[in-house]
Amino acid sequence: MRDFGGIVERSPVRVVRPRSADEVARAVRDAAVQGLDVVPRGLGHSTYGQSLTGGVSIDLRELTGVEVGAGHAVAAAGTSWREVLAATLPHGLAPPVLTDYLDVTVGGTISAGGIGGTSHVHGVQAGNVLTLDVVVDGEPVVCSPAVRPGLFDAVRAGLGRHGVITRATLPLVRAPERVLSCTIPCRDAEDVLRVQREVTADAMSAQVKPSDSGDGWTYGAKAVRYGDKAEPPPGTTETEELPYFDFCDRLRPDVEELIRLGEWARPHPWAMVFLPASRAAAVIEATLADMTTAELGLSGVILIKALRVGDVPMLAVPDDPVLFSVLRTASPGCAPVADMLAANRTLLDRARAVGGTRYAVDSVPV
Ligand SMILES: Cc1cc2nc3c(=O)[nH]c(=O)nc-3n(C[C@H](O)[C@H](O)[C@H](O)COP(=O)(O)OP(=O)(O)OC[C@H]3O[C@@H](n4cnc5c(N)ncnc54)[C@H](O)[C@@H]3O)c2cc1C
Repeated sequence: MRDFGGIVERSPVRVVRPRSADEVARAVRDAAVQGLDVVPRGLGHSTYGQSLTGGVSIDLRELTGVEVGAGHAVAAAGTSWREVLAATLPHGLAPPVLTDYLDVTVGGTISAGGIGGTSHVHGVQAGNVLTLDVVVDGEPVVCSPAVRPGLFDAVRAGLGRHGVITRATLPLVRAPERVLSCTIPCRDAEDVLRVQREVTADAMSAQVKPSDSGDGWTYGAKAVRYGDKAEPPPGTTETEELPYFDFCDRLRPDVEELIRLGEWARPHPWAMVFLPASRAAAVIEATLADMTTAELGLSGVILIKALRVGDVPMLAVPDDPVLFSVLRTASPGCAPVADMLAANRTLLDRARAVGGTRYAVDSVPV
């Protein structure tokens, strides 16, 4: 069995596909009797074996369903954020933070952290949870900031190592009908961080792409303002007005194209590090100065995102964190996976030297 990274392979003794918390509990108890390791799996979109095991794989894709209440939604762990959004939008509501890509699971991203365009305002998904139903030591229990707070803190961003999340109660906020997405070209990484710090926007992201001349990189930020009367911020060179759902699902056309080209199925040695804002530009610039497009791959993507985390003790980040993501694809004719992994290691070492940490769903040999 592999994951989205396509690098690590493990053969589980068995795969269990529970449809209820009781079935998860039984699977965990049966594994304990046999002395087998249990690893939960959402859609397996982590990139270095985090959802894989040689023991019992608990595949949560059949544990789905969403109920929308007054200002909150209760979602089963295997539900994708696409399904959550489809259930909440008819009520004019949405989760405060959505991942850029909607086809990952509620249980998977709460166990990872879950960063999205609105994370500079609302923090991460793991910090936007009211209660969690968790199977721990083979028993289903409920936890929240008030009830079993230690367990609540251990499972959020806990990578499934402290219990299996079966259900999450999520807060909801009012969803806009339309958004204005504004492109702001930037000079360099420092300029990206300035824009992300100074511009007021409901959602914010930034991308670095190989320059057309082929001898460097171009930097661009996107500031997204909600509402049909939104005005573009200073520095905007292009705007696009679009329905809120289309904005949330903005990666879908690119993903379809990558599937068509075969790039989606290739190995993805992704590096993702949290850098302290004060040192982030220097690390980003040094990394890109050393990097060739062959080390990124044909469809690789580089992202910069300043964020807040909130109260998520298991997600170790420096003060004022900036997520720097080098999302490599081992395309034909590009650098081999081993070289990409070595470059990830170098980036992590550079990040750690300035107090940075890794986003643990990435691919770094440890
Ligand atoms: C195309 C793409 C885009 C992405 N975009 C974003 C993004 O915008 N923001 C972001 O933060 N991340 C993003 N990610 C990374 C994503 O958060 C991780 O892949 C994460 O692992 C979620 O994927 P998953 O639901 O498939 O979980 P998996 O990869 O299956 O699991 C992730 C980890 O959580 C554990 N786990 C899974 N389910 C449970 C559960 N129910 N209970 C306890 N532990 C569990 C697993 O054991 C594993 O350690 C993206 C990944 C891809 C491939």
